[in-house]
Amino acid sequence: MSGSNIPVATLGVPRIGRRRELKFALEAYWSGESSAATLLQTAKALRAANWMEQCDRGVTKIPSNDFSLYDHVLDTAVMVGAIPAIYGWTGGELLLDTYFAMARGGRLNDASPACGHGRHNGHGKGVRALEMTKWFDTNYHYMVPEFSADQVFALTSTKPVDEFQEAKALGIHTRPVILGPLTFLKLGKPEEEGFEPLELLPRLLPVYEQLLDRLAAAGADWVQIDEPALVLDLGDQERKAYKQAYEKLAAAVPELKIMLATYFGGIGENIDTALCLPVAGLHIDLVRAPEQLEEIARLARKDMVLSLGLIDGRNIWRADLQAILDRIEPVVGAWPLERIEIASSSSLIHAPIDLELETGLDPKLKSWLAFSVQKMSELSILSQALSGGRASVMSELKASSEAAAARAASPNVHNPAVRERVSGITEEMKNRASSFTERHAIQRAKLQLPAFPTTTIGSFPQTAEVRRARAAHLRNEISRDQYETFLKRETEAAIRWQEEIGLDVLVHGEFERNDMVQYFGEQLSGFAFTKHAWVQSYGSRYVRPPIIYGDVSRPRPMTVDWWKYAQSLTEKPVKGMLTGPVTILNWSFVRDDIPRSAVCRQIALAIRDEVTDLEKAGARMIQIDEAALREGLPLRKPEWKEYLAWAVECFRLASSGVEDSTQIHTHMCYSEFNDVIDAIAAMDADVISIETSRSKMELLDAFRSYSYPNEIGPGVYDIHSPRVPEVAEITNLVELARSRLSDSQLWINPDCGLKTRKWDEVRPALVNMVEAAKRLREAA
Ligand code: GLN
Ligand code: ZN
Repeated sequence: MSGSNIPVATLGVPRIGRRRELKFALEAYWSGESSAATLLQTAKALRAANWMEQCDRGVTKIPSNDFSLYDHVLDTAVMVGAIPAIYGWTGGELLLDTYFAMARGGRLNDASPACGHGRHNGHGKGVRALEMTKWFDTNYHYMVPEFSADQVFALTSTKPVDEFQEAKALGIHTRPVILGPLTFLKLGKPEEEGFEPLELLPRLLPVYEQLLDRLAAAGADWVQIDEPALVLDLGDQERKAYKQAYEKLAAAVPELKIMLATYFGGIGENIDTALCLPVAGLHIDLVRAPEQLEEIARLARKDMVLSLGLIDGRNIWRADLQAILDRIEPVVGAWPLERIEIASSSSLIHAPIDLELETGLDPKLKSWLAFSVQKMSELSILSQALSGGRASVMSELKASSEAAAARAASPNVHNPAVRERVSGITEEMKNRASSFTERHAIQRAKLQLPAFPTTTIGSFPQTAEVRRARAAHLRNEISRDQYETFLKRETEAAIRWQEEIGLDVLVHGEFERNDMVQYFGEQLSGFAFTKHAWVQSYGSRYVRPPIIYGDVSRPRPMTVDWWKYAQSLTEKPVKGMLTGPVTILNWSFVRDDIPRSAVCRQIALAIRDEVTDLEKAGARMIQIDEAALREGLPLRKPEWKEYLAWAVECFRLASSGVEDSTQIHTHMCYSEFNDVIDAIAAMDADVISIETSRSKMELLDAFRSYSYPNEIGPGVYDIHSPRVPEVAEITNLVELARSRLSDSQLWINPDCGLKTRKWDEVRPALVNMVEAAKRLREAA
């Protein structure tokens, strides 16, 4: 490609490897099967492959330090030495195992952490993981940095410099990516109340200066500093802090040019702040906020490089390149061409890697898609069209517009019966027959549960054996019958064991489910599935989101037989277990040709049918998981109301088709509830289970101050960590819950499903949990 082309940038690319190499390397290391050296070798090979691939596909601004072994926010915390005291770090380079302890909890040696030897021997003291939460409104999760009031920062890792040099050794000149100081502080939390992380900025900046200095010394000419927090609602103090910080950073190392990257939305009212910063370049997201181009182009300094985020970094749809060109050419024409860059809207880590691996996908659908590497090519074509004229890439441009037209006209996408049903939705369909108080009395009489009823969230460990059986069945090595016999045995064993340890409300264990969304999507119309399209959810956990390409409907019951089988084995109630419409939506790649709310209503009707079928089959309790309800919240507050209104409506639509006596449960993962408590109450679930153990029940404050009337199971066991909680630890947590809620509201359950844990961890943990409930009942 010619040197005069407009530069092409990805802001970061997937780290996990086409064949999930990183996951397997991490797991092998954690289980003790392989050494740290092997893990680091795999990581290095993945980085090299990513750099080469980008070169090959015409990316010219190649990122480095976009790689992470676990999480880039954790890397940033480590880089600046924000390592809480509990991890026993006393300075110097951080041990790999301490890094993983921050990520996952675990055991740390009491011995000097700086002694440099390999793996910890497991005899040290147990230590919790950092909290984990969503990265903006994506399905990626980061480790929440913790700051103490007397926080000292120091450059503790030179990862950005090391990886820049690693690429340089391969002959590739990269633009290192670092998380900006303001977004970093905003994503963190104070260890104790009483100060704002932002106050730490003056202490943090010298570390960033030092880093920029080292990058420049290593030969970097540009650095990409990510400040996605610029698309959030910011206060005056925060805006001022941007100015202070970037004036300082730009002046400290003037030879290093800063490309300030904003993404996941428009800069909106932060525009003055963003445009007055003394940076050499600004990246803007023109997929989420195409409307901001004109204003920014009008107001920005003309000596600034504008990086145009034109290709969606977060979705899988192929772009209509001609439509993009039509839109931007007039604006771009007025900007010096040598100061334009073409980029993905955000880092590509939220997209799967390579569409070409999907050999089983319907060719028509496939022609409508683009994954990370295809997006690189799209970027390159846009750059060529802008630099050399459309004629230079006419056939590529035509192909992309033809694909867009074919998709819009395809009968696979449009189902008139579904549209008709959605338009026939009535108010009555969104309301239970009676109020919670009335339902509560009816359910109490029918269910006869003890005080502090115990239950779990649904899934039991997906053991290697379970996964092997599923894989063997997929490859037709075992028949459907054999597979089902196996699953029945697992389910039966789980039911028997739950009875034995004395749980009150049982679950069937979800052994037949590959994933809580995929399992449903595979049985619904309008969904497609990929084989290799993994994206990172957190650490070594990757997901393969379904693709919702067309109108959604439920051809037949999806879970009723499994529920029936499980219930046939026991007198105790077994919960029907479903994934809610909002979660199915938020964990899928969603079609972009109709509003998300419209897609969600279609899914809600399908789930509603399943709920009523479970009730007909005899289910006394049905849990509709809305793990991801909060995830769909728009980044800016003024847009929340509209989202929450349709999200709650969809949950109610899915759950309200049952009798008063049928108890509807819901479950939500790690969430702050304060700001959405109205919506949670409006969902009107009879019982909600939530993650609360890591926040030591602080998350319940929202329910207390709201006087939330319905029942609640605050999680008493952190399932994200392999650590087994002691009975006393659990009773202590329940006591904290009792200080906030009335006993009659409380259920006892883990934070979330147990599928990622091992039976060796789950068994003693749940035995302790049941024992804790027993002691509470005795003492009450
Ligand atoms: N029922 C699901 C399970 O137990 C819920 C998981 C979740 O909320 N993430 O796995
Ligand atoms: Zn959960």
